[in-house]
Amino acid sequence: MPITRRNLLQGIAAGAVVATGARPLAVLAAGALPQPLPNLLAPGPTLLNRNENPYGPSEKVLAVIRGAASVSSRYPRSEYDVLRNMLAGLHKVKPEQIVLGVGSSEILRMAGAAYLGPNEKLLVPDPTYPSLANYAEANGVPVVKIPLTRTSEHDTEVMLAKVDSTTALVYVCNPNNPTGTLTPRKNLESLISKLPAEIMILVDEAYHHYVSATAAYRSFLDFPLGDPRIIVTRTFSKIYGLAGLRVGYSVSSKEVAARLSALRLQNGVTTISVKAATAALEDTAYIRLAAKRNSDDRQEFMNQVNARMLRAIDSHANFVLLNPLRPVSEVLPHLEKNNVLVAPPIPAMDKYIRVSLGTPAEMQEFWRVWDLMPPSKMAM
Ligand code: PLP
Repeated sequence: MPITRRNLLQGIAAGAVVATGARPLAVLAAGALPQPLPNLLAPGPTLLNRNENPYGPSEKVLAVIRGAASVSSRYPRSEYDVLRNMLAGLHKVKPEQIVLGVGSSEILRMAGAAYLGPNEKLLVPDPTYPSLANYAEANGVPVVKIPLTRTSEHDTEVMLAKVDSTTALVYVCNPNNPTGTLTPRKNLESLISKLPAEIMILVDEAYHHYVSATAAYRSFLDFPLGDPRIIVTRTFSKIYGLAGLRVGYSVSSKEVAARLSALRLQNGVTTISVKAATAALEDTAYIRLAAKRNSDDRQEFMNQVNARMLRAIDSHANFVLLNPLRPVSEVLPHLEKNNVLVAPPIPAMDKYIRVSLGTPAEMQEFWRVWDLMPPSKMAM
């Protein structure tokens, strides 16, 4: 059979139906493009495992993504610079201070590649987002892990005490993943001011937009220290709802940016991704809506936690660390068996599970499945 656009689409649709168990969509039978695409993907597990924005990008951004599809045959050209200029304006820095990455994950990698060698150490809080430490370990770089304090902040005093002449890079994650907690700005400033001059500091602000108003938090982009050792990373994967399009960025001194940029994947950030990210930045009303929606969803989650007399750590992010008051080794398989995915076990906090906040319907499903578990003996 010759491959036509119509039978190709039907073939893809049939594959999707087999893969997800989804019913075929009427629009496909009519030979039209599947609109909107998420309908094809909706059936399947409830995804509360990767701290995505469950509502997706705004309608304006979706329109830009659809419109940009026609340039897919071209390599990216000026788009990288358009977004870079926009971010420079937003953060009141020079465009040369911005580096774009294939998600902020690529920036974390670039920082590891630029500033860590086999005889140099990476210092990280524990637990935290593991990407940089994983990269370091895979490259034979020793990683020093410093447990969080009892209130789940970075233990900046112990971090400082563990610095030695081989420490090259310090990773700070604020708000921290997986705890959702903040480390007070004054503690971070105190740590930074005491670190030897040659040590680089990467401040990961992936969850910046979800922080509730508090004097303890100040972004290192909105209130920069002007310290050439600091690299701040942000991402379009969280509040902007573009995790699948893979765009992140860093802000640093020009010199550091040049060093990072030399390590970036050429043409890694795609035209569609950059156009979507640019549109997402412009849609400030949607960002405000997304932040408000997240804080409402977070409050509702805590209400449900309290109603069941469970424990959870107060979060400043789009996920919550929940103490189920029963073995995690029972809870995770139960959720998975019922098609609800949460984060994998967290070795450094093995009494907790991390639940990403979904839409109200997804959270209802989470609690429905939760309530299928027999009462916990530990909670009594
Ligand atoms: N930093 C933190 C703290 C994260 O939690 C994540 C992803 O969950 C990332 C960075 C990487 O995000 P991305 O590569 O999608 O920008």
